[in-house]
Amino acid sequence: MVEAAAVPLQVPFRWLLGPGPSNVHPRVLQAMGAPPLGYLDPHWIAIMDHLARMLRALFRTRNPLTIAMPGTGTLGMETGIANLVEEGDVVVVGANGFFGERMAEIARRYGAVVAPVVGEWGKPLDPEAVEREMRKHPKVKVLAVVHAETSTGVLQPLEPLAALARRYESLFLVDAVTSLGGSPVEVDAWGIDCCFSASQKCLGCPPGLAPITVSPRGEEVIGKRSRPVRSFYVDLTLHHSYWGGQRLYHHTAPVNLLYALYEGLRLILEEGLEARWERHRRAARALWAGLEALGLRLLVPEPWRLPQLTTVLLPEGVDERGLRQALREEWGIEVGGGLGSLRGRVLRIGLMGMNASPSAVLTLLTALEALLPRLGFPVPAGAGVAAAARLLGAGA
Ligand SMILES: *Cc1c(COP(=O)(O)O)cnc(C)c1O
Repeated sequence: MVEAAAVPLQVPFRWLLGPGPSNVHPRVLQAMGAPPLGYLDPHWIAIMDHLARMLRALFRTRNPLTIAMPGTGTLGMETGIANLVEEGDVVVVGANGFFGERMAEIARRYGAVVAPVVGEWGKPLDPEAVEREMRKHPKVKVLAVVHAETSTGVLQPLEPLAALARRYESLFLVDAVTSLGGSPVEVDAWGIDCCFSASQKCLGCPPGLAPITVSPRGEEVIGKRSRPVRSFYVDLTLHHSYWGGQRLYHHTAPVNLLYALYEGLRLILEEGLEARWERHRRAARALWAGLEALGLRLLVPEPWRLPQLTTVLLPEGVDERGLRQALREEWGIEVGGGLGSLRGRVLRIGLMGMNASPSAVLTLLTALEALLPRLGFPVPAGAGVAAAARLLGAGA
């Protein structure tokens, strides 16, 4: 006999200002509470069809194969690779951050010959270095890169890399987990063959879904595979026959999460993508000015800095874990620590979705102004908030 007390669920409020998840709009939470429908109910099918239309608008694509995979961003990554890659294919991967390295690892597990383009953490990939790697192989099946590297805070310019993929007749696979909904992602205009994201970053939904889109060229390659995809669960052909014409059962759709995504996308379309990107830039510029006014330094130089995720270097002697714990316990604010080579050296501050707002920026700066002196780094009182408020203008 195993016993467990019926301990009530207790969920404190948090400002989720880390690398994801981000806070969820009340309308999204409310949508999640609607009763589940069966996965073949015609009413549900109509909801799915409209969800797919909204996903196409979000990715800026006409791709028929545009769906939401039932899992987190990593499942989106695995889906893209598992479907486009067959054993022995050469995959050139940008490895200048934690998630680029994860993509390389997944490609290896699916039997690819992985050719990493190693780059410095905190800088974008150099297209010339990518081309040097691509030229070494008679045939590169896939060029895979991360658009918004959440481990470093770099926004990778994609168009030069898309041009390379075209020139070498490779498929172009892009991790847009942290960029989609926060920065421009132009799947058709830039010529991306496979692009995936996650519900809990700039889309402002709970974690658990990975939107993904595949170009007709990518679909053709999948259609010509010599063997079926190894993983039954991520086989896009099977998913497409559920989301597309035949409505064949493959798995039970996580209906309530998809309701949440539906409402989250509706909020995005109501705001407008351009306005949303501008809101993310505006909040980020205010945060950067505030952090710099406190005497803090940012890891990534301005031209490549990612608005929705800022990596700030911790001053010598300030304990990263102590600072994050005080932010959480005393201010209810979650921020991220460093991954890999940046562990213990940085804070990662996310302003994603509804958190790209004056209230999030000013609350965080107020908290840092209070905590940093206590942890051994004196700051000019009020300077961070004042610098940010100036850029946020009226209402701040
Ligand atoms: C968060 C993230 C992922 C992984 O997403 P999960 O939802 O945690 O599985 C992949 N790539 C990037 C760039 C991310 O920021």
